[in-house]
Amino acid sequence: MTPVDLLDLDSLLDDEERQIRSVVRRLVDDRVRPHVADWYERGQVPARELAREFGRLGLLGMHLTGYGCAGSTAVAYGLACLELEAGDSGVRSLVSVQGSLAMYAIWRYGSEEQKQRWLPAMATGEAIGCFGLTEPDHGSDPASMATRARRDGDDWLLHGGKMWITNAPVADVAVIWARAEEGVRGFAVPLDSPGVSVREIRRKMSLRASVTGEIALDDVRLPADALLPGAAGLKAPLSCLTEARHGIVWGALGSARDCLETTLAYAGTRTQFGRPLAGFQLTQAKLADMAVEWQKGFLLALHLGRLADAGRLRPEQVSVGKLNNVREALAIARQCRTILGANGVSGEYPIMRHANNLESVLTYEGTSEIHQLVIGQRLTGLSAFA
Ligand SMILES: Cc1cc2nc3c(=O)[nH]c(=O)nc-3n(C[C@H](O)[C@H](O)[C@H](O)COP(=O)(O)OP(=O)(O)OC[C@H]3O[C@@H](n4cnc5c(N)ncnc54)[C@H](O)[C@@H]3O)c2cc1C
Repeated sequence: MTPVDLLDLDSLLDDEERQIRSVVRRLVDDRVRPHVADWYERGQVPARELAREFGRLGLLGMHLTGYGCAGSTAVAYGLACLELEAGDSGVRSLVSVQGSLAMYAIWRYGSEEQKQRWLPAMATGEAIGCFGLTEPDHGSDPASMATRARRDGDDWLLHGGKMWITNAPVADVAVIWARAEEGVRGFAVPLDSPGVSVREIRRKMSLRASVTGEIALDDVRLPADALLPGAAGLKAPLSCLTEARHGIVWGALGSARDCLETTLAYAGTRTQFGRPLAGFQLTQAKLADMAVEWQKGFLLALHLGRLADAGRLRPEQVSVGKLNNVREALAIARQCRTILGANGVSGEYPIMRHANNLESVLTYEGTSEIHQLVIGQRLTGLSAFA
């Protein structure tokens, strides 16, 4: 139990869930925490090495079954995301994109040959995947995508470009979404195919311990079997996003917990006006409000995870979790920053890194506004955006 677990929410987890959480926490303590400030500062992360280590622990495609995947519960996967993101949101993004976006798309919509070809290698981290939906001119509104897929004999030709694609510069395969004559289709595209070029996006001020890229597709010729046969229409990529958003609901709590724990330790030892910061009523009010929000966020994540395990989780419910938990995690990170004063902006402490990371987490996988619109549509029966 951590100091922020006032309500003993740990008691709502079973032994296996607690066990998985401790294993991931240890891995993050050993392999991420000692290096992450440096990765962040340099904007470089040993993604391939980390992927293989995460693969050895069964964290890649962890909640999928077969093909070398661990077949864990959604709650166990969520707890793993929380612990990874307590290290860094970028590190959690590597795992989320690999498992919930790229592997899930192939697992759910791919042919048996595609699954055999990619999933076992992706589960061990030998192969890295990415997921290309966003384009330079189409983010929140993927239905307007400009990337085109057209048939040429038995082959497909893909033309267009994808932007802001996590893992792309280190990936072996991209799941690319493109508009064909019959609607949106998905393709498993080996990134060494002729006509594909990948450029790393630099100068990010957020998620610097994650590699992000732009993928240009210049009449890329693909065999017929590159098409994901089960994916027809925009609901296919959106279902992958629902998977990944569930992980984010949990992950954001990891960043927030790390900020809170760092702040509690700092406020207990930093003295001003002859007493520790933690002894001031204004500081305690901040700490209490943040701990309360964290606990509520955890209960929400656990409820959504249990719904997912019962096969009853609906997309607008995930929107509730993503909207609330990322927004509150960011508010916690910013508030913790105030308690650390000038040290709050220093890279010697993790707070500003988490706060900056959460700006990306707030935007990707559906911005807060888009989740408000999804919830608003459910409440009113009126779509304000489609
Ligand atoms: C670090 C990082 C990694 C990413 N990784 C991936 C990835 O792996 N794969 C991928 O496909 N994408 C990825 N993305 C892209 C991400 O999903 C998009 O940035 C996101 O969907 C928003 O799109 P946009 O940036 O084009 O913003 P826009 O869609 O241009 O939106 C700009 C602003 O307008 C608001 N807005 C838009 N439409 C409406 C509306 N109807 N009503 C009210 N407000 C509205 C938005 O909420 C936002 O505040 C990543 C982004 C980042 C920053």
